[in-house]
Amino acid sequence: MSGQQDWGQQPPPPPGQQPPGWGAPPAGQQPPPPSGQQTPGWGAPPSVPVGPSKYCQSCGAVIAASAPVCPNCGARQADVVYEEPKNRPIAILLALFLGAFGIHRFYVGPIAWGVAYLVFFWTGIPAFLAWLEAIYWLSRSDVEWAQKYGGPVREANGCAIGCLWVLALLPLIGLLFLGGLFVLAIPFAVA
Ligand SMILES: [Zn+2]
Repeated sequence: MSGQQDWGQQPPPPPGQQPPGWGAPPAGQQPPPPSGQQTPGWGAPPSVPVGPSKYCQSCGAVIAASAPVCPNCGARQADVVYEEPKNRPIAILLALFLGAFGIHRFYVGPIAWGVAYLVFFWTGIPAFLAWLEAIYWLSRSDVEWAQKYGGPVREANGCAIGCLWVLALLPLIGLLFLGGLFVLAIPFAVA
């Protein structure tokens, strides 16, 4: 006679057969996992700092204690003392045109790097390194830049960044162009 004593202990019907009106999710949709058991990487915060942390003064996200800018909402944290914020387009321009002499490093720091670039400029290597740095800085976001070089998140002018990309890639475009000319000239040279 178990059928009459099991009231209230019946196992829930298998998913997809629940009566409507239960608040059950539509068939085929997984019920949300209980909190604390979420799939890793799913609803996890973007970056939980490993070291000392604090709460963002704007959005309350847990961020690194030393972060001058919240990676979550971009708000400046008043408890972090800034150095003079550095302008990204200016830093990139300096790296592209004067990077061989380390001028961009005198601007954003560390100065010691700038000195090293200056001492070894005659090797040509600093120019190449500065070009790589310009590409790297171009590929960063405004928030990343502000986190590293201080100041409020200032959205770099998209047009300026676009022009700087073209400038930075000009050497490659020039090389391709010269290479193309060379290939085209081969038949004439052979004949
Ligand atoms: Zn925030």
